[in-house]
Amino acid sequence: MIKSNLNCIVSSCAYNNDGYCYASHIKINGYDAINSKDTNCETYVKGSFESLSSKSDEVITNSQNISCSAKNCTYNFYGGCNADHVLISTRDSKCDTFRIKN
Ligand code: SF4
Ligand code: SF4
Repeated sequence: MIKSNLNCIVSSCAYNNDGYCYASHIKINGYDAINSKDTNCETYVKGSFESLSSKSDEVITNSQNISCSAKNCTYNFYGGCNADHVLISTRDSKCDTFRIKN
């Protein structure tokens, strides 16, 4: 079952469970980013999902729950994210979906 349009494969993050983010809201950094490597998820917390107090599906994060400073990304809309699907990947929890504005 698809629970959210945001997937994250950073398995060392406490909010990650089975490829979904349970932080309810995340912040992506990348004010001067010109590619995805310059971005990262500020909400990352090293730990295990079992230690989280709130694990219900109600706190699953989707793209509408992103605050993003990567103003050069084509999907950035007034600090929000309007991508259809977002993938946060392992290397420094970067946003793989970043695409530079034309
Ligand atoms: S790295 Fe960010 S997007 Fe991934 S699970 Fe952690 S808080 Fe959520
Ligand atoms: S796709 Fe772009 S706007 Fe959306 S979170 Fe990633 S970097 Fe930010």
